[in-house]
Amino acid sequence: MMAGLDIGSSAAQHATNFRSNTYTPTDLFKAVSAKITIQNKNLNAFISITDEEALKAAEVATQRIKSGENGSLLGIPIAVKDLLSTAGQRTTAGSKMLENFIPVQDSTVVQKLKDSGLVIVGKTNLDEFAMGSSNEYSAYGPVHNPWDLSKVPGGSSGGSAATVAARGVPLSIGTDTGGSIRQPAALCGVMGLKPTYGRVSRFGVVAFASSLDQVGPFSRDANDMADLLQVIAGHDEKDSTSSLEPVPDFKSTFNRGFDGIKIGIPSELLQEGVEDDVLESFEHAIDEFESRGAIINRDISIPSIKAALPVYYLIAPSEASANLARYDGVKYGFSVLDGKNAEEVMSASRGMAFGPEVKRRIMIGTYALSAGYYDAYYLKAQKVRTVIQEEFHTALNEVDTIFTPTTPTTAFELDSKINNPIEMYLNDLFTLPANIVGLPALSTPCGFSGDLPIGLQMIGKAFRETDLLGYTHAYQSVTDWHKSEPTDR
Ligand code: GLN
Repeated sequence: MMAGLDIGSSAAQHATNFRSNTYTPTDLFKAVSAKITIQNKNLNAFISITDEEALKAAEVATQRIKSGENGSLLGIPIAVKDLLSTAGQRTTAGSKMLENFIPVQDSTVVQKLKDSGLVIVGKTNLDEFAMGSSNEYSAYGPVHNPWDLSKVPGGSSGGSAATVAARGVPLSIGTDTGGSIRQPAALCGVMGLKPTYGRVSRFGVVAFASSLDQVGPFSRDANDMADLLQVIAGHDEKDSTSSLEPVPDFKSTFNRGFDGIKIGIPSELLQEGVEDDVLESFEHAIDEFESRGAIINRDISIPSIKAALPVYYLIAPSEASANLARYDGVKYGFSVLDGKNAEEVMSASRGMAFGPEVKRRIMIGTYALSAGYYDAYYLKAQKVRTVIQEEFHTALNEVDTIFTPTTPTTAFELDSKINNPIEMYLNDLFTLPANIVGLPALSTPCGFSGDLPIGLQMIGKAFRETDLLGYTHAYQSVTDWHKSEPTDR
């Protein structure tokens, strides 16, 4: 290893070291590539490691820095969930269905990363089509949690969380439909942010549930996260649901401190099923905020919040069943070519290439949308969604932000929940509501149970990611949870 080069540094530290000529983006890329290749044997965090193109990108960044160009993330290595299209590079969505899919163009987020000079070192493993909470539903094998290889990293963006936790890369990109950034961030001890719906373009991202999906960043601290969000946020004319809301300076609140932050805690959520250690770390984090000047309100109420789980597990599968109809072995995807007619080809292709969880979702969704059941299930779920939205709106008139633990438990054993979908779905209890209502939410490390990290979730007002980043920056400047790292894997 070169003198002065620590792969585990933050993106900001790497950027400083590039400027002082301690090492170049090319040096860093080579070191990162070697490290993630070795780590992948244990972690399985990457589906593909994109050496050649990444090396070229690193060399270009090295030149750009030499010629005096500035740019906070120029030359910084990043991993991207294999759900975002990368031109000329395989994009599998974690499915056998897309095992040979090579997109012709980049997703907008990938394009923005490239324009800002980030170096995409690989595509990360995920639950098939982003459906799952443990990364065990990937057609490319499960990801292992770097804190304990016998545990899951969370899902569906488990690969993106695991590689940042294992200090393979300082930054990564995930997607979050019901918690898939925040839940693995919590279980792997890193930061993860789901921006407001519409803040980041979904163009070129393989769709799961279009009214809930959002792309977002993983990092280890608020400073790096603000830099990455700055790169990927903003209106995109190629995504009609992307917002026209102006993009603020995401670090503008970094000096606000703790004074007067009004934090609401929806007590109805904390009543059952939360592990003692998780609750204890959560309460410690609240004390930290309160003792430094935040105002805690335990009386806010979101009475329908518990309905978020059934609402999500009707709406998400319904939208998924429509989005996944295109993978029929004729127009798109894996194909069994020897059927007698189109119908046989389609059903054999889908039968072979979709995994069990994806099939389960397609069946639930098709059922919920079918004539005769539509009113009873899908329409009812949409109505309850509106009620939850109104309740959040009322609560966030009283407080600035809502805090919860990110997950009810720490990382669980591989294979322990895979045969019990309902238990698996309960992992998402605290993360789903933010997707249902479209609000920004992040998770940041706030403690440990034994060796396993615990996450604190903050939910904010629409398009106020800046607030959440400010609170987190304040918290991280007085605590060290985000600095803990697992033994090298
Ligand atoms: N765990 C949730 C699910 O299985 C959320 C997944 C996600 O956010 N992509 O649907």
